[in-house]
Amino acid sequence: MRRTCVIGAGPSGLAASKVLASRNVPFDCFEAGSHLGGLWRYGNDNGMSGVYASLHANISKESMSFSSLAMPESYPVFPHHSKVLAYLEDYATSFGLHRHIAFGTEVTSVRPLDDGGWEVVHRRRGNAGAQAVSRRYTDVVVANGHHWDPRLPDPAVPGAEDFEGSAVHSHDYRTPEPYAGRRVLVIGMGNSACEIAAEVSRTAARTYLSARDPAHVFPKMLLGRPADHLVRSPLAGLPRFLKGPAMALLLRLTRGAPAHYGLPEPVRGPLAAHPSTSDELLVQLARGAVTPKPGVSLFGRDTATFTDGSRESVDAVVYATGYNISFPFISPSVFAAHSGRTELYLRTVHPRLAGLYFMGLAQPSGAAFPLLEPQAEWIADLIEGPVALPSPAEMTRAIARERRRHARAYVSTYRHGIEIDVRAYQRALRRELRVGRRRARGALPTPPAGPPPPRNPADTQTAAPHSSEPLSGAGSELGST
Ligand SMILES: Cc1cc2nc3c(=O)[nH]c(=O)nc-3n(C[C@H](O)[C@H](O)[C@H](O)COP(=O)(O)OP(=O)(O)OC[C@H]3O[C@@H](n4cnc5c(N)ncnc54)[C@H](O)[C@@H]3O)c2cc1C
Repeated sequence: MRRTCVIGAGPSGLAASKVLASRNVPFDCFEAGSHLGGLWRYGNDNGMSGVYASLHANISKESMSFSSLAMPESYPVFPHHSKVLAYLEDYATSFGLHRHIAFGTEVTSVRPLDDGGWEVVHRRRGNAGAQAVSRRYTDVVVANGHHWDPRLPDPAVPGAEDFEGSAVHSHDYRTPEPYAGRRVLVIGMGNSACEIAAEVSRTAARTYLSARDPAHVFPKMLLGRPADHLVRSPLAGLPRFLKGPAMALLLRLTRGAPAHYGLPEPVRGPLAAHPSTSDELLVQLARGAVTPKPGVSLFGRDTATFTDGSRESVDAVVYATGYNISFPFISPSVFAAHSGRTELYLRTVHPRLAGLYFMGLAQPSGAAFPLLEPQAEWIADLIEGPVALPSPAEMTRAIARERRRHARAYVSTYRHGIEIDVRAYQRALRRELRVGRRRARGALPTPPAGPPPPRNPADTQTAAPHSSEPLSGAGSELGST
């Protein structure tokens, strides 16, 4: 008998649970925290949420909604994190998900079994004497999030160990009060860096924003609409070689040149990197409350020297330098995200580890939520059998092709290793569903089906059509972290 394990009850795990529950697929969902919501629960007792007190979604409520439940009309365009959490609670209640979730239960090990299936070990959190429980599952859906393991500059900035001021990662930033009256250096130029620099600059003595690679800063509203609504505008339909220049022009007309804010001109086009959206930063830069700086080359006891040779006195540093993608419960010899990249077919399926699926392990250039239910539907189809995968060899080739496209579309940094375009991803998924149904019906060459799933199936099956849609490169959406 098949049984599925879902790891995590954040947005990804909730979407997986909703779809599995609606199809009566037997499953258990384990959640390390005492409550659902993952990142969106401020002060989550799982210790994994980096949400700060003032955080609002940087994507509009329409774009952040799951397809099966819209965010309430009464919500503002960019809801506060507490409202996003209330929405996730509503989602779980509407679809009766609470009874499927074991809260306060951490998965500590996921191991492939020689005869197929997976051994999952879990234990109660906060109880040192708690027994570890081991159970066998045919399928495992990993939905543990990829924004919780703080990533620091590696190697560290020379002299970082000599710096005597306070230094935290943005994951641990909560409120601006500790920074009032101090000289603050924020490192990075993603969304968190931009928003935190803008926030602390209202009360700090000085605020510096240091970026090795300056980003395009997008206003949250463009042409009178939330910037993420551009995906529904004619701009989204332009070919890639026109879309980048069109976006650059639109930014220039609405926001003006980066030089107006003292920012250097970014080297790359606005769609080649994950967008940073912050109106507050633009205002604070224009007021001179935030001073842009290039990369930090050296720390002293209370100073930072920058790559342009300038040196500033600094009391506090906030490293807004992103997150590692980590799976502490899976041996790196089985699966790991090396250099921020994953070898997964459609960012979901490992070509040689049958029955192991990853949810939400993609960094959309827009909202993450809309891709989660379609992804969960595909996983459920694969578990139930109306859809079949291409052969492992075909999946491996498709992954290699996607990696080449990705390299052309985005900057080659750890942060962009799992960057995708949501619309392109959804198109690719729809195509894979169509083709996968034909494969499962035997209308196309197909790998052997039926439980228990073969582990590491032989690479010798006949090649079958696979998704050839690019997941990257359309680059038409804005927002997210
Ligand atoms: C500061 C910040 C702002 C963001 N803002 C936006 C935004 O405005 N819009 C947007 O769309 N996205 C935003 N994001 C991206 C965010 O990651 C996604 O919105 C979303 O939370 C991802 O959901 P998830 O379920 O994959 O991961 P998470 O929300 O991180 O949930 C993962 C869950 O898995 C559980 N878990 C982990 N390991 C285990 C284990 N071993 N055993 C049991 N349970 C486990 C955790 O306890 C957690 O509940 C932001 C990210 C950050 C860091």
